[in-house]
Amino acid sequence: MRDIQIGGLVSFTTIDYPGKLAAVLFLVGCPLRCAYCSNPHLLNVGPGEYDPEKIYQWLQTRVGKLEAVVFSGGEALMQGDATISFMRRVRELGFAIGLHTNGFYPKMLERAAELVDWIGLDYKATREKYESLVGNAIAYDNMIQSLTFWQSTGKDFEVRITCDPRFIDKSDLIAIVRDLNARGVQTVAIQKYIAHFEDDAHKTTPEMREQFFNDPALRDQISALVPNTIWRE
Ligand code: SF4
Repeated sequence: MRDIQIGGLVSFTTIDYPGKLAAVLFLVGCPLRCAYCSNPHLLNVGPGEYDPEKIYQWLQTRVGKLEAVVFSGGEALMQGDATISFMRRVRELGFAIGLHTNGFYPKMLERAAELVDWIGLDYKATREKYESLVGNAIAYDNMIQSLTFWQSTGKDFEVRITCDPRFIDKSDLIAIVRDLNARGVQTVAIQKYIAHFEDDAHKTTPEMREQFFNDPALRDQISALVPNTIWRE
C-alpha cells in the first residue's frame, strides 16, 4: 500500500471541528472539479508535499494539546486504504477524527466510519445544477448515498452549502434546505462563497456573494426548516 499523500497542514484551528481544538491535514487528490475550488493544487494525486511520518511524529507531540485531527482535501477518501490506515494510527494516539468530504465515495465512508467521529459533508447545489458545478454526473447521487449512510450511524455531522451565486440562487438554497429538512438533517452550515481567484472575482460581485446573508426573510425561512443553521459569512 502506498503512503498517504499529504499536501497541506493547518497546525491549530478552532473552527474545523465543532467544539474541539484540531489540526487539519489536506490530502492530495479529488474526483471533482468544482468551479469554486480554493485548493486546485491539491486536485491531482501525486507526491504530497509533507512526509507522513514527520506529520505523525509531530502529531505525537500534540497529544494533550489538540483534541482532534480533521482529514480534509482534496477528497480525503480518494486515497482509500492509505487514508484509513493513517486515520487508525492517528486515532490510536487518542485524537477524535473529523472528515471534510464531498461524499463521492459512500463505500469508502462506510469503511472509514468506525474511525471517524464527525463529518462535514458538502451539499453543493440542487440535483439539476450539481454536474455543471462539480463536473461529474454521479456526484449528487453519491453524496446523497453518503449522507443517508452517515445518518444511519447516528454519529454527529453537519451539511455544508457554499453559496456560489454562479450556481445557487435563493430559491435553490431554499430547495436544498427543504430537502435536508425532509431527510431529517439537524445541522446545516451556510457558507459564503469567497472568490479566491481574480477570474472568479470578475464573474461575481460582493452584492451577489452577500445576497444570501443580508436577507432576513430568507434567513428566517431557512432557520424555520433547520433550527440549527450556522451562517458562515
Ligand atoms: S470537492 Fe473540494 S477539493 Fe474537490 S474540486 Fe470541489 S472544492 Fe475542490
